[in-house]
Amino acid sequence: MQPHYDLHSHSTASDGTLTPAELVAHARRQGVDVLAVTDHDTTDGLKEAFQAAFREGLILVPGVEISVTWSGTTIHILGLNIDPLHPGLQQGLAGLRSYRDWRAQEIGRHLEKIGIADAYRAALRLAGGGTVGRTHFARILLEQGRADSLPKVFKNYLVRGKSGYVKGQWASLEQAVGWIRESGGQAVIAHLVRYRLSATRQRQLIGEFMECGGEGLEVVSGSFSPAECHAMALLAQRFGLGASSGSDYHGPENPWLELGTMEPLPVGCTPLWKTPGWIQT
Ligand code: AMP
Ligand code: MN
Ligand code: MN
Ligand code: MN
Repeated sequence: MQPHYDLHSHSTASDGTLTPAELVAHARRQGVDVLAVTDHDTTDGLKEAFQAAFREGLILVPGVEISVTWSGTTIHILGLNIDPLHPGLQQGLAGLRSYRDWRAQEIGRHLEKIGIADAYRAALRLAGGGTVGRTHFARILLEQGRADSLPKVFKNYLVRGKSGYVKGQWASLEQAVGWIRESGGQAVIAHLVRYRLSATRQRQLIGEFMECGGEGLEVVSGSFSPAECHAMALLAQRFGLGASSGSDYHGPENPWLELGTMEPLPVGCTPLWKTPGWIQT
């Protein structure tokens, strides 16, 4: 039997709801053999995740999901097999987290204007010292009954054109891929389909990403339809990118997504974990 890889997941170190140890234990129960914990702009959950992985007999891939602004669009770049102790990477991530804090205050001010008081303080409390993000605001607004699901809260309050939206000013593509590579990791474009780029802009992004030294494309994601996986498989093959597979699991509150249930990579793709740069077994 092939080992089951899941190379994209979140813990309470960012906007997941399971602690790193709970996430690892749940992944193991669900039949995941190799798990990457990839929190937004932080590696703070990795120490606890490594300890849990050792107990559970699971291979943990140290990871991170870096927020990037590319050509006016927010995109996410995964760093896999990074060295969490690398100073350059940590300095870059610290900068992104201070921007996150400022943005969270700004989101709070925007929501205040439409009569939603104290959202910043509540979001910060909910983040519990982890990186604060829109998901924390969304959970608070959901709790207040302002919409009946998390995606609807996003759609009504937190996306471009809505009152709680603040335009992102994240790392450049070159910085993000640079930090990942300097720390010994491989860079992967996360959930490309979600950015609503035209086919031409998708190819442009991939071209620039590869020029920076990026090596992988998420071909299977918890948010992709079978047709989207197929399209990503063709792109990965065409550009010679390693194919990655990750659920983007955030916890049991999103019942439509479960660990260990994703389809295998389409045939014809080169799995990222079979490429020369991959350092785990
Ligand atoms: P941030 O990086 O703080 O802007 O937040 C991005 C996170 O918000 C993503 O990683 C998802 O977890 C979550 N998110 C974004 N869009 C949606 C949506 N439409 N429905 C549910 N969660 C979303
Ligand atoms: Mn998230
Ligand atoms: Mn993402
Ligand atoms: Mn993610």
